[in-house]
Amino acid sequence: MALLVQKYGGSSVGTLDRIQHVAERVIQAKQQGHDVVVVVSAMQGETDRLIQLAENLTAEPHPREYDVLVSTGEQVSMALLSIALAAKNCKARSYTGLQTGILTDDAHMHARILDVRTDTIRRDLAEGYVIIIAGFQGVNALGDITTLGRGGSDTTAVALAAALKADECQIYTDVEGVYTTDPRLLPEARLLPQIGFEEMLEMSSLGAKVLQMHSVELASKHNLPVRVLSTFKEGPGTLVTFDDKVMQKRLVSGIAFSREEAIIALSGVPNQAGIEGKILGKVSDAHIEIDMIAQYTTDKENTDFTFTLQRKNYAKTLKIVEHLAQELGAVSVTGNENVAKLSLVGIGMRSHSGVASTMFQALGDVDIHIQMITTSEIKISVMINEEHLEQGVRAVHTAFELDKLGEHPQHIGVVAQSV
Ligand code: ASP
Ligand code: MG
Repeated sequence: MALLVQKYGGSSVGTLDRIQHVAERVIQAKQQGHDVVVVVSAMQGETDRLIQLAENLTAEPHPREYDVLVSTGEQVSMALLSIALAAKNCKARSYTGLQTGILTDDAHMHARILDVRTDTIRRDLAEGYVIIIAGFQGVNALGDITTLGRGGSDTTAVALAAALKADECQIYTDVEGVYTTDPRLLPEARLLPQIGFEEMLEMSSLGAKVLQMHSVELASKHNLPVRVLSTFKEGPGTLVTFDDKVMQKRLVSGIAFSREEAIIALSGVPNQAGIEGKILGKVSDAHIEIDMIAQYTTDKENTDFTFTLQRKNYAKTLKIVEHLAQELGAVSVTGNENVAKLSLVGIGMRSHSGVASTMFQALGDVDIHIQMITTSEIKISVMINEEHLEQGVRAVHTAFELDKLGEHPQHIGVVAQSV
């Protein structure tokens, strides 16, 4: 008998029929003799709908009240699943984050879990109940409801599994696991049997939405293997776990991407020490996060400064930068709000050379212009026009033979889709 934590995402509980299906799955696990703790997301589209309601009232809803509002989506699905289970004669009890004691810090809208109380859960499990916990939410020291950031139910599941020392943390979703790239963009993407924590973390931070980044961080910190699998189709899914020898042999592991990107470039900025800090200082004062940065000194007098950011902040940032350009006497400000970031990830890059040149060549062969590049030890990211994203992903995917995953063990790769 094992203790399982099973998380069901928004699409898995998106309709009453689907909730019935999830109930059957839970009952199946129970009948196999397992103790089951279920974490649910809000019904598909519900969190977006709630956010929209608040934003219709004001562009910046009060964070405390925002959390009170958006946490309700999960409360609906946990109760419905519990009702469905009880109607099928399966004893079940649902709890919100506040009721269970998912203790977080004060950072409303993107809180971090500090501690998880398990006494109520353990008591109910001992009495034979299936426990259903609302994902995505917790409570701070003041007793206020907090939420964990979009996709935060994954993190609830991992935190619970770690606190309960569960035998397995299963993340049920609407795809069969983690793929070499998003199968919705590229049908030839391959399912990965395994992926390392480090690569998965990189993939999640680069736009793969299959697992929330913090959940991967937490799983890796607790050495807790996580299995991503489909609610609707039987299969082994993908095990997210420690990097092993097989994974280390891979040249690259997968392609992540994010669409909602933008670039802003200042050129002909009079060169002076500290100019970069001045530019970015103004941007960060407005609480705008930037991603890639490139700076190039054209001659002794002038420098060009380019950076990327999330598209939603483009208009606001462009205004700030235009203002600054006037102040600094820069020659021009240009921007592009139709770019996407394509990233190639793999721990094999540490020990193999030529990955970047193969990637750039593959993009060049299909006439895609790279507008900006950043690299780290295990990833290479490029900014390209969004309209070329699919073509670019395909070119790189093919160049590294990710579509032949498993056929050439030294080339096999990994990763991710948006869910
Ligand atoms: N319902 C929340 C969201 O849509 C949390 C989650 O689904 O994990 O972001
Ligand atoms: Mg999710």
